[in-house]
Amino acid sequence: MYGGYVRCPYCGSLNDKVVESRTLAHGDSIRRRRKCLDCEYRFTSYELIEDKPLMVIKRDARRQPFDRSKLERGIQRALEKRPVSTIGIENIVTDIEDAAFMQSKDSKEIDSAVLGEMVLERLYSVDKVAYIRFASVYKQFNNLEEFILEVKKAGKKYGRDDEE
Ligand SMILES: [Zn+2]
Repeated sequence: MYGGYVRCPYCGSLNDKVVESRTLAHGDSIRRRRKCLDCEYRFTSYELIEDKPLMVIKRDARRQPFDRSKLERGIQRALEKRPVSTIGIENIVTDIEDAAFMQSKDSKEIDSAVLGEMVLERLYSVDKVAYIRFASVYKQFNNLEEFILEVKKAGKKYGRDDEE
């Protein structure tokens, strides 16, 4: 929903045309009637009017606007040459973006650590190699022991199918 992507609930296409827009009573959301250009299905989307952009609070307390393409690049890098399709990557990014907006809908701020955890959790369930790649960049381990400990912790935290 955020960033202009609205998927057709019928065929999954992102190709649609807005046929009618209406600002709702409180003025903080917009209802749009849309028509899918691929299958002609008509549907409705609701969008929050973003008065303030979502800000990411960095480790050093500086704030930066949330950047979808930066998130996408990080995830792409982790999934390079892994068996996950472009659409699969796109879905992970959209999923994280939605979760980030939902989590920060009042404050419009999210801690980069929280965002990082969202990425790690999803990568762990999609592809363990990608998870390890991302974690090793993101967590900046000082030594091998730290790294091994982290991977074990992840297994406990996110794992369902692990032997341990
Ligand atoms: Zn459609």
